[in-house]
Amino acid sequence: SKAHVVVVGGGFGGATAAKYLRLLDANIHVTLVEPKANYITCPGSNWLFAGLTELPQLTVDYQSFQDKYGVKLLVDRVSSLDAGQRRLRLAGGQSVSYDRLIMSPGIDFRWDAMADYDKAASEQFPHAWQAGPQTLLLARQLQAMPDGGVLLMTVPADPYRCPPGPYERASMMAYWLKQHKPRSKILILDAKRSFSKQALFEAGWVKHYGYGTSNSLIEWHSLADNPLLELDRQNRVLTSEFGDRFRGDVLNIIPPQTAAQIAVQNGLTDSTGWCPVRPLTGQSVYDEFIHVVGDAAHYSPIPKSAFAANSEAKACALAVTSLINQKPVAEPHWLNTCYSLIAPEHGVSVAGVYKLDAARAIVSVKGAGGVSALADVEAAALEADYARIVYRSLVADTFR
Ligand code: FAD
Repeated sequence: SKAHVVVVGGGFGGATAAKYLRLLDANIHVTLVEPKANYITCPGSNWLFAGLTELPQLTVDYQSFQDKYGVKLLVDRVSSLDAGQRRLRLAGGQSVSYDRLIMSPGIDFRWDAMADYDKAASEQFPHAWQAGPQTLLLARQLQAMPDGGVLLMTVPADPYRCPPGPYERASMMAYWLKQHKPRSKILILDAKRSFSKQALFEAGWVKHYGYGTSNSLIEWHSLADNPLLELDRQNRVLTSEFGDRFRGDVLNIIPPQTAAQIAVQNGLTDSTGWCPVRPLTGQSVYDEFIHVVGDAAHYSPIPKSAFAANSEAKACALAVTSLINQKPVAEPHWLNTCYSLIAPEHGVSVAGVYKLDAARAIVSVKGAGGVSALADVEAAALEADYARIVYRSLVADTFR
């Protein structure tokens, strides 16, 4: 009988895995389990704050998986996993058995990181780190802010989904504020000492947003030695370990993250909160029939991005078809690029190529990849176009 692979999660990792499994070996039955009929991409969602896009433009469905690739779709949530029986149970009551499972369930949030900030509080002070209603809520809060108001953005320590994401978001918000509420300020309170593409972002902020001057639209503060401990919801004040108080008109609290609940609850994570895998195949170190890709998995030093999730999923799909057909597993290479817009015509990027070393650990290939050149105006305009093109091709490669 034909092998059956079940894919959990229809985001960038899961959708890519389901599609490429069928492209690589049409003899394999593939079922994709995803609770949402429509998926809104986080990539591109920061552009909404600058008025450059809207949610419908960021929304995809799973039509082509059925029509073009013959993937069976189950619009449901996996509620539990019986790894011994190789079976999973869906919230709707159905149970599904598999020969191999590929999980790409994404992230969840650590609600215990800051006193008084929990899931309920996130409805008032949105993280908007899973694109959708919270993205719109945060955009409306920004638009309603008084001119001269302060937006506080908190950024967690590494690792988290999309390392340059907070700084692209601050840039896009500053672009909007510059036109509509130029006396306002975005205060980034960062748990890190430095951040992705920092020199490029800071140069862009100097150029467009008065960075470093007293009326800069963006200020960045490292709180690496003075973490934020408490939220006062009533007064919209964040208090740090040393008692510093930060008051905002709008609070965009981006909490520290873990692998999604389904991975945590089924023992696929370690003490870091992420799923350790054997990178050659993406197999969980705890279960050889379960593969994990995307943000939920630990593929460090590859960052947690949609581009990386797509790359990990392709390598994993190839490994799974090889294992099923009892062929040797090919040595994977993984790719990542992260483009960010600082202004509509000012893009910056980081790219990386990764491989396995002799000890079977992931290493970055020396001399491949890198970041954009500083102070190259023409290149910055081109890179802004590339950002939009890479977004479109990544979505097409994953979902269409
Ligand atoms: P997801 O895309 O989150 O997909 C997980 C899916 O699993 C979800 O659809 C969820 O419904 C489903 N799921 C969860 N639990 C279950 C369950 N129990 N049963 C069934 N299904 C389940 N990356 C880039 O490469 N470029 C960018 O420009 C970029 N910009 C970003 C901007 C922002 C603001 C943010 C927040 C992120 C950005 N990213 C970007 C990162 C990117 O969004 C993630 O890295 C990517 O979505 C990871 O894919 P994934 O498959 O691991 O998880």
